[in-house]
Amino acid sequence: MKIELLNTGSELLLGTTMNTHAAWIGGRLLQIGLRVSRQTTVPDGEPIREALAEAIARADVVIVTGGLGPTSDDLTREAAAGLLGIELITDEAALRSLEAFFAHRGRPMADANLKQALVPVGADVLPNPHGTAPGIYIPPRMTAGHGCAVFLLPGPPRELQPMFHEEVMPRLRALAGGTKPPEMKVLRFTGIGESDFHQGVDATLAAIPGLEVGYCARIAELDLRLIGPPQAVLAGTEAVLGAFRARCFSEEGRDLEETMVRMLAERKFTLATAESCTGGMIAHRITNVPGASAVFAHGFVTYSNEAKTALLGVPQDTLASHGAVSAEVVRAMAAGALRNAGADIAVAVSGIAGPTGGSPDKPVGTAWIGLATRDGHHHETKVFQPRGRRDFKLAVSQAALDEIRKTLSP
Ligand code: ATP
Ligand code: MG
Repeated sequence: MKIELLNTGSELLLGTTMNTHAAWIGGRLLQIGLRVSRQTTVPDGEPIREALAEAIARADVVIVTGGLGPTSDDLTREAAAGLLGIELITDEAALRSLEAFFAHRGRPMADANLKQALVPVGADVLPNPHGTAPGIYIPPRMTAGHGCAVFLLPGPPRELQPMFHEEVMPRLRALAGGTKPPEMKVLRFTGIGESDFHQGVDATLAAIPGLEVGYCARIAELDLRLIGPPQAVLAGTEAVLGAFRARCFSEEGRDLEETMVRMLAERKFTLATAESCTGGMIAHRITNVPGASAVFAHGFVTYSNEAKTALLGVPQDTLASHGAVSAEVVRAMAAGALRNAGADIAVAVSGIAGPTGGSPDKPVGTAWIGLATRDGHHHETKVFQPRGRRDFKLAVSQAALDEIRKTLSP
């Protein structure tokens, strides 16, 4: 079943609004084994008609978003009706709920809103309990010989999303007639470059019949998406883990921080962080995870040398002789955080985000990560992530979380 998405709205092309519908609808469809084959964005107004005509000619289902509002550039319903030669008439039930919407808010309804109750004769009205414009479903038999199902949905996400769940999904399921969703697995890796990864597994994966492989490189992370029949996904997973098991932090599509919190909780460990160059990002990421309170003890953000000494007990001598970005300093930071927080495990980071502050032996992008555990184990690692400040912080926080993961891994 070929599904096309037509997003309307000048703001989507001006860069002022992110087209979140495309990602959101794509994700919902995948859950029931369906895919968007093509997505088009057009500005408000007349261009909708041409884009709709093209999409209806190509696809089995067209989902249009936006342009159902009361203003003169909201032309989606007029374009669809005009194109298919269907008359628009006022739907009494839609008109009543429109009136009720305004009455409930104690506001008079403008005449302009009347057109929101207009529906192509014979189409289904999709109720919109969260806004004024109902959605419209034009079944395949009404699309002038194209046999294409057309959904017209409101632009505001809080109106579109519930309508999609309640009105669109059941109709799509019926149109798809019991298509079984393929298996999908997302494996996430860190500490390996995209090209090495690709070289290591791509030929093996390509040889597995029916397996669709997708790579997505992020900052200090690589996601691998495997889609296909269950046995193909299993074979792909085994092949990849055979080569890169130690680099894989989730086979269920989880974030690194989520994996971390789970691992700490399973061992009933508490964590402390001592952060310089990441400015609290490690603590931030950990506390984004529900249940973090069970495992996160204390986060120190010690940006200055004075703070490192006062809060973590890093000796001034160590700072003076080795510099703040050194194995010795992160070792002392981790030990101090462990002690002062009374935690089971502590991670410390210190690095040079740039753009200034680098030197030949410690260029911008250098960071040290220190790890200490209550049983006396400690470990320091150097990473090099020459990026802009934000990406540097993200990459270093990723490496630090990964150090914790590696320490906790059996
Ligand atoms: P309205 O009655 O609000 O005019 P509408 O159905 O005509 O509704 P639009 O005018 O296209 O819809 O959009 C309404 C709101 O929804 C705007 O804030 C717009 O930025 C947002 N919106 C529209 N399309 C998208 C999209 N694809 N992704 C994210 N937001 C969107
Ligand atoms: Mg509008």
